[in-house]
Amino acid sequence: MLIKKDQDVIRGYFEDSSNLKGGHADSVAFPEDITALSEFVKEANQNKLPITISGGGTGTTGSRIPFGGIVVSLEKFNKIIEISEGGFRAIVQAGVLVEDFKNECERKGLFYACYPTEKTAFLGGTVATNASGSRSFKYGSTRIYVERLKMVLASGEIYEIKRGQNLLTKKYSTIRLDSGQEIKIPLPAYKMPKVKNSAGYFARTGMDAIDLFIGQEGTLSIIVEMELGLTKKPPKIFSSFVFFKEYSDSWNFAAEARTLSKDKNKADGIDALSIEYFDENALKLLRQKNSAVPKDASAAIFFEQEAAGADEERSVDSWLKLISKHNAFLDNTWVAMTEKMRETFTQFRHAIPESINEIVKRNGFRKLSTDIAVPESKFLDMMRCYAGALKRAGIEHAVFGHIGECHVHVNLLPRDEKELKISEEICLKFVKKAVALGGTVSAEHGIGKTRREYLEEMYGHEGILEMARIKKALDPNCVLGLDNIFPKEALGLV
Ligand SMILES: Cc1cc2nc3c(=O)[nH]c(=O)nc-3n(C[C@H](O)[C@H](O)[C@H](O)COP(=O)(O)OP(=O)(O)OC[C@H]3O[C@@H](n4cnc5c(N)ncnc54)[C@H](O)[C@@H]3O)c2cc1C
Repeated sequence: MLIKKDQDVIRGYFEDSSNLKGGHADSVAFPEDITALSEFVKEANQNKLPITISGGGTGTTGSRIPFGGIVVSLEKFNKIIEISEGGFRAIVQAGVLVEDFKNECERKGLFYACYPTEKTAFLGGTVATNASGSRSFKYGSTRIYVERLKMVLASGEIYEIKRGQNLLTKKYSTIRLDSGQEIKIPLPAYKMPKVKNSAGYFARTGMDAIDLFIGQEGTLSIIVEMELGLTKKPPKIFSSFVFFKEYSDSWNFAAEARTLSKDKNKADGIDALSIEYFDENALKLLRQKNSAVPKDASAAIFFEQEAAGADEERSVDSWLKLISKHNAFLDNTWVAMTEKMRETFTQFRHAIPESINEIVKRNGFRKLSTDIAVPESKFLDMMRCYAGALKRAGIEHAVFGHIGECHVHVNLLPRDEKELKISEEICLKFVKKAVALGGTVSAEHGIGKTRREYLEEMYGHEGILEMARIKKALDPNCVLGLDNIFPKEALGLV
């Protein structure tokens, strides 16, 4: 197996888009098959050598950044094994790029509906973080598309699980391995919020055991192969950028589009795939890429919808009525009706997180952004809290994201230590507010190393200890993904 030790060569594995500093490891291993990986992990476990699993390195929380031990990269597990057109299923290895998978599916007339937004993420990374994309408004997060996982556990044992195969119905339910070993999983008592959620381990009585391994951030197993559900490629998708003079109009527009999209009758033809928000500062960043962004706009909404034939006209008509009702710039609304144009819009939307990450890097501090989602009835309360605190602080920031799911990312962009401290306080304030409103501290990015404090706000110290007990049941020597989700103290390691 290829193992690289030259620090100049492997330094890139000590980074992700969190800009968290100080990562280090002795070496990076590049296993090529599951047998080699299994033997390697078995030996590391015997020597109690920490392993950090690396996917595409696009995570925002420092979760693939090692603080000691070794890194295992999944990049050689890069095969799309099968795409079954009739069965609407794909079998893929963990190192396949999101973009390659999307393209291959579409070539066969199929669609990976949840489509995590960042093209260079690995599919294994998206399962390990339960990632979402802008389209999770209609299609949901990665979790619901995962039908089967093949993994290497901390002991080196290979473990495969299918959805529906093992339901954890009791406080101490069992996972049975091929070797005959039975692992008792101590199900926690904490209650997950009723919103889109990727914070800590998925756990509830009666849950499918496969769900424990989705969103586990490399702390419970190394995912090697996945079976993912697909759908038929929609005949057409159109998308639009709608600009507003008043940000409150954009919030009301999004709220009505959300409600109409959820209406089962779809009488008015509005059925969004994504409803995305950009505040004034996010628009400033977009204006640097395209000067056509209206100068007097203080907010924008990007939306997408499937459409075909007569329905398309009806839908476009209904959207135009909504745009007009909420005082948007009707004459300066951008609509993409062709696939090429739509792709340009999607890239334009994606330029926001990319630009923000560039600024974070330039400023030299770790990424300080929220990943909060709250129940729909509390969303305006949360948005007002953001707006008030950001105005008072006067620190550079940009707010964008998945307003359809009551989930926007507030990005604070401190330029010095003083601003950093204030930004950290503001983020914590937002987290406390979200928890009080019944929301989550992480709706899609996970906890990693930079949001552990937030998770404790959400589930309390006992909740953290409950997660640590699950980890110790599956990884008694605590070698996988150390420092992710909870600190070493929770594992009794310091
Ligand atoms: C510009 C930009 C936009 C983004 N937009 C979104 C978005 O809209 N929605 C969203 O959800 N995320 C978004 N992200 C975040 C990121 O793309 C996701 O978190 C993604 O799922 C990370 O995948 P990765 O392969 O890069 O994982 P990495 O960053 O390499 O790792 C992430 C975590 O997964 C673990 N891991 C990786 N592979 C495996 C494996 N095979 N087995 C077990 N554990 C593993 C790692 O140990 C780590 O804990 C964005 C990132 C960027 C840079």
